Amino acid sequence: MENAKKVDINMGLVCNSACRFCMNGLPGEVRKFASFESLATEIKQFYKKGFRALGFLGGEPTVYPAIIELVTMARDMGYTYIDIVSNGIRYHDKKFVERLIHSGITRFYISIHSHKPEIEDYLTTLKGSFQKKIQGLRNLMEFRKKGMIKDRIFLNTVINQRNYRYLTEIMLFYYKMGFIDFRFNFIRPEGRAFSHGKKMVPRYSAIMKYVKQAIELSRSLRVNLFFEGIPFCLFQKFKIMDFKNYIGEFRDGNKEISIHEARKRVRFVMKDRRKNQLRVKPKSCRTCVYDFVCEGPWKHYIKFYGLKEFKPLKKIEMVSDRKNKKNSFSYSLHRRDSKI
Ligand code: SF4
Repeated sequence: MENAKKVDINMGLVCNSACRFCMNGLPGEVRKFASFESLATEIKQFYKKGFRALGFLGGEPTVYPAIIELVTMARDMGYTYIDIVSNGIRYHDKKFVERLIHSGITRFYISIHSHKPEIEDYLTTLKGSFQKKIQGLRNLMEFRKKGMIKDRIFLNTVINQRNYRYLTEIMLFYYKMGFIDFRFNFIRPEGRAFSHGKKMVPRYSAIMKYVKQAIELSRSLRVNLFFEGIPFCLFQKFKIMDFKNYIGEFRDGNKEISIHEARKRVRFVMKDRRKNQLRVKPKSCRTCVYDFVCEGPWKHYIKFYGLKEFKPLKKIEMVSDRKNKKNSFSYSLHRRDSKI
């Protein structure tokens, strides 16, 4: 997959949840799926252009009525890597997971935001969602251990007001279930997330202490950890000097996205859209040594907290703080096989 050209296909905004941190979900939003024919045509077109890696996004792709048929079609066409990003609720149904695997899904991304039922259910606004997701993760791990899932299973967590103090607890909880790939995405204040305001969107400065602890824990556990949506100056301010190893945006490359917007399909490179539309940078960033690579905060974040937290950096300090044992966690856990 590493060198394969990848496209993510957004199937539409229909979802079986209504998460409080969702960047979609404003009243009046068109919530319907794209037709099978239009998605099949797109998948064929991208294949002809040389794409061999494909991702399915929503809304919630697992509730797309013909998801199995679509994945099977893509696999039979010749896509060698097919992933799906899901809230994981439908994975409590073991037979459904098995059908997805047999149809051709090679990698699973699951969004989960807490280790506590009351927080997860509050965030998803769906009573019982935590238990369903946990059962889903158990099912996936069972299939993974049997060798039926080719690739690893990745957990995505949206950092928000309700969970930011528990980043290490979340990692430990899922690590004990066998998961070793974590990505924490800072909440993007749009759609429903924006409408909840500061009740959902924390201040960067408030979360960084916990981000630092999570990084230290990831070293102790030897698991993979990435963050998205946090400007670089925040890391340096909190003395996380080797932060570039944890920047999720660096891993995304030039991934293309295809999505239905304003009644037509549009395609874009995610990195460009983040820079040009979704993020914003104060003028002072022009004097910062990271200006050429840092994407700045989410655009609407500054409506809540302003620009004061973002301070241009004069020099790149890449001193590893791995040697700094003072604040290190002292978990005596075994090294995990990174290919689990
Ligand atoms: S470019 Fe701006 S937001 Fe990014 S690290 Fe520099 S000052 Fe911070």
